Amino acid sequence: MFNKKIEDFFKKHNLWNKEMFSYIYSISNEVDYYDKNINFAVGCPPKVNNHTGKIEGFQLTIPYCVDGITTMIAVHEIAHAIYWYKKIGQTYDEIQEELFPMIVERLYVEENKTSTLESYEKFLDSTIDSKEDSSYSFALVNRESFMKTNLDDFKLFDKSARKLARKWRRKNR
Ligand SMILES: [Zn+2]
Repeated sequence: MFNKKIEDFFKKHNLWNKEMFSYIYSISNEVDYYDKNINFAVGCPPKVNNHTGKIEGFQLTIPYCVDGITTMIAVHEIAHAIYWYKKIGQTYDEIQEELFPMIVERLYVEENKTSTLESYEKFLDSTIDSKEDSSYSFALVNRESFMKTNLDDFKLFDKSARKLARKWRRKNR
């Protein structure tokens, strides 16, 4: 099991179910985020089939949750895992992959406000160039419009995200 604070947060937003979380936990690894020699491993890359372009699974490495920042990062990476879990069998679209985790991360920061967390999130956002054509800028530009919608209806979220991605591509082509 992930720590109680993390599980409770996802339960509160109806993003927790036993089977999914048992699976995600069973494949997860933890590393020391403050050890510069190993923290590059933190992340949740998908496994995409080279021939079909479809998502087949994912890997998950989160930090040991020792403070607000490491818990926030773990929440972000677990949100990636939830996203991939729900998208298994579907076509991978790189541009959309940061949107769901960045929305979930923002919710976590809003509900667990400390000046450290807020300024760390601002710092992360400031590293994203909103004019760049990347999954981070796509998420940064579109995140606000999702902050008041229910994430528990994943199909609806996904439909809106795909629509925004199509619009984004038309504009950035
Ligand atoms: Zn991410």
